[in-house]
Amino acid sequence: MGKVLIIGAGGVGRVVAFKCAQHPDVFSEILLASRTKSKCDQIAADIGGDRVRTARVDADNVPELVALIRSFQPDLVLNVALPYQDLTIMEACLETGVHYLDTANYEPRDEAKFEYKWQWALHDRFREKGIMALLGCGFDPGVTSVFTAYAAKHHFDEIHYLDIVDCNAGDHGKAFATNFNPEINIREVTQKGKYWKEGKWVETEPHAISKVLQYPGIGPRKSYLIYHEELESLVKNFPTLKQARFWMTFGDEYLTHLRVIQNIGMAGIEPVRFKGVDIVPLEFLKAVLPDPGELGENYTGETSIGCRIRGIKDGKERTYYVWNNCRHQDAFRETGAQGVSYTTGVPAMIGARMVMTGVWSGQGVFNVEEFNPDPFMERLNLDGLPWHEKFDIDLEL
Ligand code: NDP
Repeated sequence: MGKVLIIGAGGVGRVVAFKCAQHPDVFSEILLASRTKSKCDQIAADIGGDRVRTARVDADNVPELVALIRSFQPDLVLNVALPYQDLTIMEACLETGVHYLDTANYEPRDEAKFEYKWQWALHDRFREKGIMALLGCGFDPGVTSVFTAYAAKHHFDEIHYLDIVDCNAGDHGKAFATNFNPEINIREVTQKGKYWKEGKWVETEPHAISKVLQYPGIGPRKSYLIYHEELESLVKNFPTLKQARFWMTFGDEYLTHLRVIQNIGMAGIEPVRFKGVDIVPLEFLKAVLPDPGELGENYTGETSIGCRIRGIKDGKERTYYVWNNCRHQDAFRETGAQGVSYTTGVPAMIGARMVMTGVWSGQGVFNVEEFNPDPFMERLNLDGLPWHEKFDIDLEL
């Protein structure tokens, strides 16, 4: 029995609140806080039964966060606002001595660059305070990191090659929309590609490397090598890796829109003076694009995300593929949110359960692959994200 404070009432926050509300034995009290309180109230009303209380908070403001944490006294703060807020929320947790969890690593607003260094630097302060921060507990990062830890623990003596493959074969019926916060999403997919090879990072031009991969239950989809944040912690925590890459599917239509957006300067993060006001083009673009939280109703198709791993077991080469498929319609029926929010929110709830029940414990700042993957894998099957595995198959990569 414990109290959780969820910060951020977007698509992911909706799913986290729904899923926490399903487990009163673990989450006996839930407070959902965001910049716009009406969004929290709507989610609480959709859940019903007075399970979720709501509040307004500006998560860029440490004293405001501290006051809210002091008044509610949660056991854990679950951050599903934006990556910009990670450090202020961690600071507030340090000041109040409360565990912290997030799904995306810190990113400065003025530089499209996500790295763990700012959050890892807080390790000693979390340790001294006797609390833990669990970083990157969504699907990717999150489940993909747990999948890797599970493979390394049970199926390999050494893992050598890791390819994380992320396919969204959904159709939301819009000409262009992003599946999570457009600003964060566009910053992520327009940056240079990067992968780990033989102890070094190799950089590529954006979308320069692609390959058609077969996804279970979906079929062939063109997949592009992009940089993704879990690679940074996985190569550190699994030093036997000779190569680690991340692949994501994009449709031609999506990439054409993205190219136009970039070419006309709308993906820019430098302020532009317009009619006497400073406007950041990407922030303005977010305001006119469809809200990812509203895509759910007509979203058909499914996502398929997994890890393809090659390594050594008992002196012989072995391959292993572990994945989950999630149908957008099923996610929407259960929570009112589409599959990408669902696949992020469910693992965030499971991670919070791991920490609040003491199944995962520690003092300091950790990534999810540093803990025993077994109880987390078990919960995925029970909480709506069942996984499948295949051995000794052609990984295509
Ligand atoms: P949304 O943009 O839909 O939601 C973000 C929410 O955070 C909004 O409700 C917003 O409030 C709130 N927020 C923003 N700034 C503040 C602030 N200063 N104070 C308080 N609240 C604030 O994003 P998503 O729900 O799609 O994504 C949430 C997080 O999940 C992001 O960090 C994203 O990167 C991460 N993510 C992780 C994935 C993974 O697999 N690991 C996959 C997908 C997403 P308001 O609406 O009032 O502005």
